[in-house]
Amino acid sequence: MQYLSLNRYLRDTYGEKLYKLSLMGSVTCPNRDGTLGDRGCIFCSAGGAGEFAAEALGSVESQLEDAKGRVQDKFAGTGYIAYYQAFTNTYGDVNALEERFTETILRPEIKVLSIATRPDCLGDEVLSMLHRLNKIKPVWVELGLQTIHEETAGYIRRGYPLFVFDEAVSALRKIGVEVIVHLILGLPGETEEMILQSVDYVSHRDIQGVKLQLLHVLENTDLALEYRQERFAVLSMEEYIAILGKCVEHLRADIVIHRLTGDGDKRLLIAPLWSGDKKRVLNAVNRYFREQDICQGRRYRG
Ligand code: SF4
Repeated sequence: MQYLSLNRYLRDTYGEKLYKLSLMGSVTCPNRDGTLGDRGCIFCSAGGAGEFAAEALGSVESQLEDAKGRVQDKFAGTGYIAYYQAFTNTYGDVNALEERFTETILRPEIKVLSIATRPDCLGDEVLSMLHRLNKIKPVWVELGLQTIHEETAGYIRRGYPLFVFDEAVSALRKIGVEVIVHLILGLPGETEEMILQSVDYVSHRDIQGVKLQLLHVLENTDLALEYRQERFAVLSMEEYIAILGKCVEHLRADIVIHRLTGDGDKRLLIAPLWSGDKKRVLNAVNRYFREQDICQGRRYRG
């Protein structure tokens, strides 16, 4: 079994590793501004699921320069992925969104524009905008599905049913945009079988990438309240890695795996605390995958 890591995909497709620059393009989400709800998804901290993004909206240029400055010690390359991560980045005034995204994508060092959003925020005007942008350079749209199970979706207050995700995937694929799906492993009430059902489901859809993310319990979330009331338990590292291995084996071989762990903000992390040591987790993942022949000894670095 061999899986396609993001780094390998980038090298094969762009000839080099591209580094992600986290940018801010939105400051809210319909699940927070009262449209669908005002407390957000149960696991989402005040930062809108993107605590490493720029603190406040600045100009595209200043955000890019700041973001490059933050990665300059780790990255010597020249190409980047502009990643609009926090909140819902296709929600709001479409003209203003297009202006910001166009300015970003036209920068020569930006090779890919990656936009995180919700599947219920992809109306016709937004799709037309994404179509125009995708003609300039590749556009990826990241959809926070988390689970296919409606009961869990209700519990985490995701705010849309599964068919909305399916409609979004077909609309995005019609305009040639690559779709990356976020799934959370270890959601309260979900068994291993349920997690694998979500993986199987997305594997049978026309998606190009997946982010597998451990459930993090973060400060300032309703999930933290539930955790402190001992309403659910988090996964141990060994449990997580074993489930992760099965998820990878269930994924279609051409789906790019963008993430195997997750980057929760350590300042806010309540549980599981083992996940704060990303290097140790990745070493354990690599060891387990090698021992179980899950990736033929290929080290995961993405
Ligand atoms: S949709 Fe995203 S930004 Fe909005 S509340 Fe949920 S996780 Fe947070």
